[in-house]
Amino acid sequence: MLNKRYYALGTEPSFIRELFMYGLEQAKKVGAENVFDYSLGNPSIPAPKKINETICDVVSNVESVKLHGYSVAAGFEDARAAVAADLNRRFGTDYTAANLFFTCGAAPAIFATFCALTADEESEIITIAPFFPEYKVFVESAGAKFKIVPADTEAFQINLSSLDETISEHTQAVIINSPNNPSGVVYTEETLSALADLLRRKGEEYGHPIYIIADEPYRELVYGDVKVPFIPNIYENTIVCYSYSKSLSLPGERIGYVCVPDSCADSRDLYATVAGAARASGHVCPPTLIQKVIEICASEMPDLEAYERNRNRLFSSLREMGYEAAKPDGAFYLFVKAPNGDAMQFSLDAKEKENLLVVPGEVFGCPGYFRLSYCVSEEMIERSLPSFKRMIESYR
Ligand code: PLP
Repeated sequence: MLNKRYYALGTEPSFIRELFMYGLEQAKKVGAENVFDYSLGNPSIPAPKKINETICDVVSNVESVKLHGYSVAAGFEDARAAVAADLNRRFGTDYTAANLFFTCGAAPAIFATFCALTADEESEIITIAPFFPEYKVFVESAGAKFKIVPADTEAFQINLSSLDETISEHTQAVIINSPNNPSGVVYTEETLSALADLLRRKGEEYGHPIYIIADEPYRELVYGDVKVPFIPNIYENTIVCYSYSKSLSLPGERIGYVCVPDSCADSRDLYATVAGAARASGHVCPPTLIQKVIEICASEMPDLEAYERNRNRLFSSLREMGYEAAKPDGAFYLFVKAPNGDAMQFSLDAKEKENLLVVPGEVFGCPGYFRLSYCVSEEMIERSLPSFKRMIESYR
């Protein structure tokens, strides 16, 4: 007998992966230059130079048994202290190594946090559409109930009145993601302050804290003079789940962290429970080598020029053609309104007629829109523009 739930998860097709695989197959038939793959969020800019230099230094200078040995479960204290010092410098906080728990990227950070906040089978975790689809898998695997607040399709901020109605006595946390995958929108200080006020009021009403889980793999990917507010400075009960996958283009190295600030209610117990949840899911001691690199490179920043050029070119070209899209201030995604209102149909048509691979908003709990990941080459964007034009014209 096998576990039915995990069997279903292991065999259920992923729309994004299937689209990507289709692109690879089509490239063999029609040539890679004729396939326009906007499906995956895999960084296309190299990691900062200092990362590779530091990897070489660490490999050359750290004794082999230490370099490839286990770290402590939460990650090396010196590496966590270096990350805490960087956060303190940038955001005026007073974190120490004791506030950070290193993980293999954001995914296990989020899962451990969900598990930690699942007090019983009534526990609820809320997210805001459009959202990263793995949240549902993680919340339900943690044993909590997954609640969705429908998208604010005007500005892609947070529909607070709908959130107000969704919160119940069983709500443990609201997970938010800004800059957002898939919309590219950054939640404003105003939105976040109003969210904080709402959660304080509801927390008082129900007699327990309602945490914000700030899922922030795109925190550093922001364009122009837009600022990403640091959410723990707005709401005391914020737990941060961070990843270097996108910010330093290191998704394959699997490194990130959970940050539990002292301002959180029951912060030490909460940290210990996150640690216990990470242990229970077998996710402790992230790779030693990359921890040692992060210790030295904690304040490295990405060079966003290529993403910004892609964003500008794609956004302005699509707008000229008549497409409408959410204001893309961050991450590397554009969320575009399907010209016929049916994003699933648009995605199928674009794939079949133009080898243009776009992800329908259904995947992110927000039908009517499709996502473009513009972490691609500039040349591909240029070559794809006539296909976008033919697509919108075919719906007129
Ligand atoms: N959260 C969001 C919003 C993401 O887009 C992703 C990855 O695409 C993750 C979490 C998972 O990131 P990681 O690769 O660090 O596990």
